[in-house]
Amino acid sequence: MNEKILVVEDEKDIARMIEYNLKKEGYRPVLVHDGSYAALTAAKEKPALVLLDLMLPGLDGLEVCRRLKADAKTSAIPIIMLTAKGEESDKVLGLGLGADDYVTKPFGLKELLARVQAVLRRASVKAAAAEAPGKLKAGTLELDAAKVQVRLKGGPLELTSKEFELLKALMACGDRVLTREELLEKAWGLDASLEVETRTVDVHIGTLRKKLGKEGRRIITVKNYGYRFDGE
Ligand code: CA
Repeated sequence: MNEKILVVEDEKDIARMIEYNLKKEGYRPVLVHDGSYAALTAAKEKPALVLLDLMLPGLDGLEVCRRLKADAKTSAIPIIMLTAKGEESDKVLGLGLGADDYVTKPFGLKELLARVQAVLRRASVKAAAAEAPGKLKAGTLELDAAKVQVRLKGGPLELTSKEFELLKALMACGDRVLTREELLEKAWGLDASLEVETRTVDVHIGTLRKKLGKEGRRIITVKNYGYRFDGE
């Protein structure tokens, strides 16, 4: 949550409407109206996602996409292209250049927000996998992902596999809030709670907290969202 999203869109009305709705969903939008500032702003602001219009003054969207993907500082940032009808070939080009997804104008806000959410979720799962945490520590709690071991105050701690996966996911994400759906996906490998109810996450978090004793208070409930881990 609270991810920064760079919106590169020269049509002010559309840009403002996207900005308003992203804010409403808890994101932090940054607006750029000219293609020539897009790459620089992305390198500086390090957004979690770029919404990129194709027809832009300055530099067109495809060139912006090319530059973002060519720069190591911005190459990992996912891009959703905003394309107009009749820009079919640009769409194909853009996906070929490394854009993650596209939305065709005029688009519905629900559709746009759903795409944003899906692309961000895929990116965070990918990032977590790439980081493949070795040893994680917080206070008297130590988690060794490779050995699948947890130690509390220097002694081994018995956790169920789900408790272990939940703890690993939370510790590996720093203080980022994980939704119940994300936790389900990480610990159960399920996409968007197909069979297991999100309530199940709460039950396992409850038993995990108990086993962690004093360190259990590091798992913080974020009302209406999920959980985060306080590593301080
Ligand atoms: Ca435009």
